[in-house]
Amino acid sequence: MSESPALLAVFGNPIAHSLSPIIHNSLFSYFSLPYHYEKFLLTNHQDFPSLLSNLHGANITLPYKEVAIKYCDEVRGVAKEIGAINTLYHQNNHWIGYNTDAEGFYLSLEGSEIRNALILGAGGSARAVCAILQKHNIEVSMLNRSAHKIATFVGVKPYERGEKYDLVVNATSAGLQGSLPLEDSHLGEIICKATLTFDLIYPSSSSVKTLEDFLQFLRRREDTLFCSFSKKHKIPTIDGLDMLCYQAFLAFEIFCENAYSFEEIK
Ligand code: NDP
Repeated sequence: MSESPALLAVFGNPIAHSLSPIIHNSLFSYFSLPYHYEKFLLTNHQDFPSLLSNLHGANITLPYKEVAIKYCDEVRGVAKEIGAINTLYHQNNHWIGYNTDAEGFYLSLEGSEIRNALILGAGGSARAVCAILQKHNIEVSMLNRSAHKIATFVGVKPYERGEKYDLVVNATSAGLQGSLPLEDSHLGEIICKATLTFDLIYPSSSSVKTLEDFLQFLRRREDTLFCSFSKKHKIPTIDGLDMLCYQAFLAFEIFCENAYSFEEIK
């Protein structure tokens, strides 16, 4: 009788929309690995230990990325500075936590020449983006609707009107409410001086059910509101889908103990 596959899963609330099972199961199948990946709605983080006990590895999404650190025996890499993880791997009876969102974001920039960046937003994802940019010696400024939150970020400069920022990152959830993060004319003034903009959000993927749907979606997706605004100002722009894929590829590398290179996975 063949052994049942090792189980991995993503936890969050909500979770129905998650593309992680499609990405990971496609990779497991491509590399003929005896793993299976599920998604679980987690309504109380205290259920983590019992759910993790049957798993080989896991991904964590909103709103548990910070609290999940509590369940790690060890935290590696930039996750320590961020104070949040999105990947857990079980090795030698230890749960090891990583943050592949931050590295996934940086890889999406594909080596663009950036000296300074303005982050719009001061939530959890702004923390990941800020940490990885600072790690690569890029000067970070920040602008947020609730200005007082910026004081909790170390080494970040206040936004200065008129300054040129090479990279402008939309790390707000304004797009989910159908709005831009700032009033049009103010945003236009900032964006028209930039060389690249990045929206962490990606277009709605609710119709994606299979790998084939996902590949079609990657090829034919519409612009987010922020990306469309950037294009109107003739500024190159990237949406959050590359980041989503790259954080998953980096998590896959961890789950497979680096048996495959990032390029092979990509
Ligand atoms: P948080 O809830 O932690 O932070 C939200 C931020 O958005 C806050 O700074 C908030 O400002 C700001 N904001 C919300 N609404 C508005 C608005 N109408 N106008 C201006 N600012 C607004 O969320 P996260 O940081 O975790 O996530 C942000 C976005 O990034 C999400 O939409 C998420 O989907 C996306 N994301 C994408 C990933 C990917 O792989 N592509 C990975 C992680 C996140 P205030 O402080 O004033 O409330």
